[in-house]
Amino acid sequence: MTQEASQNPSGRVAVVTGASSGLGRHFALTLAKAGYDVVAAARRTERLKDLAQEIEALGRRCEAVGIDVTEVASVTEGLENAWRRMGRFDVLVNNAGIALSAKALDHSDDDWNQVIDTNLTGAWHCAQAFARKLAETGAGGCIVNVASILGLRVAGQVAAYAVSKAAVIQMTKALALELAQQNIRVNALAPGYIETDLNRGFLQSDAGERMRRKIPMKRFGRPEDLDAGLLFLAGEGAGYVTGSVLTIDGGHVLPLP
Ligand code: NDP
Repeated sequence: MTQEASQNPSGRVAVVTGASSGLGRHFALTLAKAGYDVVAAARRTERLKDLAQEIEALGRRCEAVGIDVTEVASVTEGLENAWRRMGRFDVLVNNAGIALSAKALDHSDDDWNQVIDTNLTGAWHCAQAFARKLAETGAGGCIVNVASILGLRVAGQVAAYAVSKAAVIQMTKALALELAQQNIRVNALAPGYIETDLNRGFLQSDAGERMRRKIPMKRFGRPEDLDAGLLFLAGEGAGYVTGSVLTIDGGHVLPLP
């Protein structure tokens, strides 16, 4: 039986990047509650220690790993250390990301590079390091890339972010195609707007309120709205699902403006 065919996540290991806040912290707890042991990765390791205590209180193991996804050596070393301690990986939630807001003509090169380096190249580094570990042992597994509805549609003043997330969707498909041979599935979640440190200022502004009213379901998302999608893509029920993009957005991308 492959690791993915196991009936119960118990003993399976999920690596979650960007686990120090927002959606990543929530994903790590959701996976732990579902029975996964967790590798929680981010730069702010002091925050990860609190998360690790919460996960251990749920009866699961948690390894906190300090990584900067923009630095390939940091990713490789961090995942190598985590592998030594956990002994296996099953799921990667490629979640670390940043958003910078600026008009296209005002985007500095630094802003552009920071967003692309984190959201796209960072996710690429993590996917490569994770898949190489699995390929070494011949074990299957899966990657869930956290994209965005801004990878499917565009909005004003987030050009670099939207481009990075569109590229994450294309990266998802490219990796799904190649990694199927290694029994590694690769899919993407494309969430709508969910209040976190990433967007709190905007969502609480008048412009945010105007946007909320245009969402067919008339509300922003909550982190728990993503739980079923995440657990589905990570789990055995999705054993034949690869290269897919699951949009969870209350219908936000549906209407014409
Ligand atoms: P947060 O700002 O709350 O969390 C971002 C996380 O990414 C933090 O844990 C941060 O950790 C980590 N991170 C950022 N840069 C790096 C880096 N260089 N190396 C390692 N970790 C890094 O935002 P969200 O939780 O909202 O965002 C999580 C993901 O979800 C992002 O990819 C975002 O684009 C995506 N998303 C969010 C939506 C939303 O509405 N909130 C909607 C659609 C997608 P640290 O600073 O400690 O390193």
